[in-house]
Amino acid sequence: MKRRSFFQLFLAGILTSRLAPSTSHALTPIPSGPFSLPPLPYAPNTLEPYIDAETMTLHHDKHHAAYVNNLNKAIAPYPELQKKSLEELLGNLDAVPAEIRTTVRNNAGGHSNHSILWKTLSNPGKKPEGKLAKEIDETFGSYEKWKEEMSKCAMGIFGSGWAWFGRGKDGKLFVEPFPNQDSPLMTGRTPIYGIDVWEHAYYLKHQNRRADYVKTCLEITGWSA
Ligand code: MN
Repeated sequence: MKRRSFFQLFLAGILTSRLAPSTSHALTPIPSGPFSLPPLPYAPNTLEPYIDAETMTLHHDKHHAAYVNNLNKAIAPYPELQKKSLEELLGNLDAVPAEIRTTVRNNAGGHSNHSILWKTLSNPGKKPEGKLAKEIDETFGSYEKWKEEMSKCAMGIFGSGWAWFGRGKDGKLFVEPFPNQDSPLMTGRTPIYGIDVWEHAYYLKHQNRRADYVKTCLEITGWSA
């Protein structure tokens, strides 16, 4: 190919991709969608001194971003999966091809879990109100008792996982441990608030002191959702 014709083709390629954004993904080696990292809804130092800015930045910009990227990469060859929501993917993992099922389970779970986490920490110190407050009292005895349940649950997890508070298909509230990035969505239940006990969530500040970190989480629970 002559130098000039190559240049013309190159230029034509750029113009085409600008005129037709739907074809621009072909130029990008890592798929950019369909899932995307939601921005942290506040500055990373907002939760200091409880959770330090460095932990928040790494947790959101690196760990959460990796779950999103890995999920997009896994489903890139499957157009039918790209149309599904996180709820649909996690709620029916049997419909996901076996060769990517574990990757989707871990990374769709990680994406969903962290998206909820940032939102629930956005209003530190706020207590549940209205109907939910009443239901917590009825189910667990009191808000303080609910905190004890969450703490016990989070401390009982061996290795990485989450303590989730949520609502079952029967409408009843639950507190339950989940390994790795598993989500209540996998059993058709609704997650409301979770404590992330992966070491990446606390090790820079709290080192091995998971109990201190769990106590901190329960103090700054925001109940914005
Ligand atoms: Mn995490």
